[in-house]
Amino acid sequence: MPENQTETAPKKGYVYIAGAGPGDPELLTMKAHRVLRDADVILYDDLVSPDLVEQYPGEKIYTGKRKDSHHFEQDEINQEIVRHALRGRTVVRLKGGDPFIFGRGGEEISTLRQHGIGYEIIPGITAAHGASAYTEIPLTMRKVSSSVAFCTGHPVNKIQVPDTDTIVYYMVASSVHDVLDMVAAKGRSGSTKVAVVQHATRYNQQVFTGTLDEFRSRERAVYSPALLIIGDNIAQFIESSWYSKKKKVLMAGGESRRYGDAGYVRIPFPCRKSATADLEAVKACMEGLDDYSMLFFQNKSSVKYFFKYLFEHGRDVRHLAPMSICTPSQAAAAELATYGIIPDFCLESHSWAGLSGLLCKEGIENEQVLLPFTGNVDEAMVGELRDAGNKVTPLGVFVHAPQQEEASIDLAFIDEIYFASPGCVRNFRAMYTSIPERIILTPADDRTAEEMRKQFGR
Ligand code: SAH
Repeated sequence: MPENQTETAPKKGYVYIAGAGPGDPELLTMKAHRVLRDADVILYDDLVSPDLVEQYPGEKIYTGKRKDSHHFEQDEINQEIVRHALRGRTVVRLKGGDPFIFGRGGEEISTLRQHGIGYEIIPGITAAHGASAYTEIPLTMRKVSSSVAFCTGHPVNKIQVPDTDTIVYYMVASSVHDVLDMVAAKGRSGSTKVAVVQHATRYNQQVFTGTLDEFRSRERAVYSPALLIIGDNIAQFIESSWYSKKKKVLMAGGESRRYGDAGYVRIPFPCRKSATADLEAVKACMEGLDDYSMLFFQNKSSVKYFFKYLFEHGRDVRHLAPMSICTPSQAAAAELATYGIIPDFCLESHSWAGLSGLLCKEGIENEQVLLPFTGNVDEAMVGELRDAGNKVTPLGVFVHAPQQEEASIDLAFIDEIYFASPGCVRNFRAMYTSIPERIILTPADDRTAEEMRKQFGR
């Protein structure tokens, strides 16, 4: 191939099909961590914790089945991986547990092979291994169990009962009884030991044990996500496993060294307000810039974010030429200079009260003002602009919204909550109206303690 063709040929990206492990974020392999750090795009599933992927800078695409998001079929996921890879990007396809244990990794690599896209597979700790370690139920054990099989409980017509000492069933959310009936029908004794491990390796791990007969007569039929383990190795199970003895501490808004020792499970809970923008409003403004005669930047960061969206909507400084540009902030003026803009008016004023005088002095009236802001809009400033006879449209380009993940943590499993700041206490209060008395509350400092008393009365 001639040299110039090599240069222009689009470079194909690379795909890592990686396992995220069963839940505890520390069970991710170092290799998966490394490729996640360098990934341009991360496509992740239901069983992968969003907190885990949040740590990495790449674009995150959720491909699971949450109610509020688009439901991806496997074909669509395959196409999505290919689409990003063909654009030359490094893609990590991150799956719960191990990609090759009921993970459909096999289907994904055959699509990659068809498209000639390079890939690697990074194994993960499968749920059965996580559950076994965190419940102290060995999957094999001398004299008790010398063979183990991993099976699926879904679909029901595919349930198999292999002749191994231990059987682990995946995907039994609603088919526990079907599986147990099949196991009994295969002739296993009613006294065979059974365990269901729900949320293995997570802070809310729960283990239910009994015999085959007992489980078959229990009413409860749905456990999710859960594994069903069958075999006499379960006799090893003790209620006080090493994992159940650890104190589960919710780290609301930040980490603290005081929970560094082995006695704790630290559960990150960002509790921060997430930064967003009303993207619909931003889009409408970017498409209707002609409707405005003045851009008024509230502060430096409003300049930064305004331009980010301007460029994202395929526009540049030339589209702002008909508008006059104004700011009350020197720092914003300096930021504007980095985009090659000298503001028409830099209304430097030491107090907002002085702004109306400056507006009058500069003759700023009857303007259609677009006012990009970050954080909270300065109502006093908007008021003064309006009083001077201008029409003002505030546009939040980076605003704080309370975390949406309402009450996603089940406090029934929590022993202690550490609050990193007063703001975290307030955000937590917005999500949970009360905290059970038995949970210890630990503030980071005096101000946080005061807010805790105000919000929770203790
Ligand atoms: N590739 C995954 C399995 C995906 S199939 C792995 O290797 O673990 C999905 C099933 O895995 C669930 O229905 C459940 O049976 C099991 N599973 C995944 N994570 C689990 C967890 N933390 N606790 C219990 N079961 C889990």
